[in-house]
Amino acid sequence: MALENRSFDERKTLVIAGQNIPLGETRELQLPFDETYLGEPVSLPIYVMRAPQPGPRVFLTGTLHGDELNGMGIIRELLYGDPLQLIRGSLILIPVINIHGLERHSRYMPDRRDPNRCFPGSARGSQTSRMAHAIFTEVVKQCDYGIDFHSAAVRRVNYPNVRAYTRNPRTRLLAEAFGCELIVNNQGPQGSLRRSAVQAGVPSIILEAGEVWKIEPTVVEIGVRGVLNVLRSIGMLRGEPRRPPFQLIVTKTTWVRAPMGGILDFHARPGDLVRRNECLATMSSIFNQEQSSLLAPVDGIVLGMTTMPAVKPGGPVYHLAALSKRNFQQAQQHLKNGERHGMFGRVRRELTSAMAFREHETRNHNEKS
Ligand SMILES: [Zn+2]
Repeated sequence: MALENRSFDERKTLVIAGQNIPLGETRELQLPFDETYLGEPVSLPIYVMRAPQPGPRVFLTGTLHGDELNGMGIIRELLYGDPLQLIRGSLILIPVINIHGLERHSRYMPDRRDPNRCFPGSARGSQTSRMAHAIFTEVVKQCDYGIDFHSAAVRRVNYPNVRAYTRNPRTRLLAEAFGCELIVNNQGPQGSLRRSAVQAGVPSIILEAGEVWKIEPTVVEIGVRGVLNVLRSIGMLRGEPRRPPFQLIVTKTTWVRAPMGGILDFHARPGDLVRRNECLATMSSIFNQEQSSLLAPVDGIVLGMTTMPAVKPGGPVYHLAALSKRNFQQAQQHLKNGERHGMFGRVRRELTSAMAFREHETRNHNEKS
């Protein structure tokens, strides 16, 4: 893939937080963005790695939502696992953006704002807006690409998928290079880091994977491999990118919600292919007086699901990516008997390894043939 053929001679000088980082050097920096009640500065830890040759600049950010720790885990693995031998370009790593949220086990900032709705931020705005501004001006706008790591919201789990605005050609190439099976095409919410970055001319994607409050080994593996794939694709690392067995761009996703309050028997896992009207879960009242089947409204693949086996009416249970007939068949060809192999097989099994699943005897409810 020819994602990057430009000349980067103008990329020799890099200054972040007032520090000049020469080519060929690595630095740990502190970017002040806030103060405590006692007036002490609060700073964001940033790690910068520069190859001896100028080249693309890539930012990696984790834990923008303070309870989503997988991103921090992925970035730490990149720093402390097998050493990266960058041949050109610069990598700017922020393992934890929302350090206030991390301290309080919370998605949000202390001013109760969602930090992923406040970009590009403002130097005169709210506490969160000022933090976003500091990151956007000091890091994001100096970069050529960005990857932001997220996990599902509380009490949910996500099968690893990339979210990207694929109508932007370079963002699409970046999303494809990362090498997940699924790319969900959308711009992202207004004020999100990746949407603001793309609007500022910096192609950026997110990885959505796993759960809050955990660092999950297979999610870390997928994140690290995705970053290495991107860096190889743009000539920052040697070696060939590794392709997933199949890759689909999906444009429509839908939540399957509970019709009643009750207890759930799950039949489908994140990453499973499901047919329209297939029974995803059986719901029952506490002594089984009432039962109800939760059916898939589309042919699709399970992007995410609740981890809590009890719901109220309207509660989200399954998040499905709708697949066209062609995409469904393509995925099906690669998933013999629905089973995956290698890294994607491991992540599918491990994401929900401690949850109860039960085979549904007659999974297909509509086709009477
Ligand atoms: Zn998030």
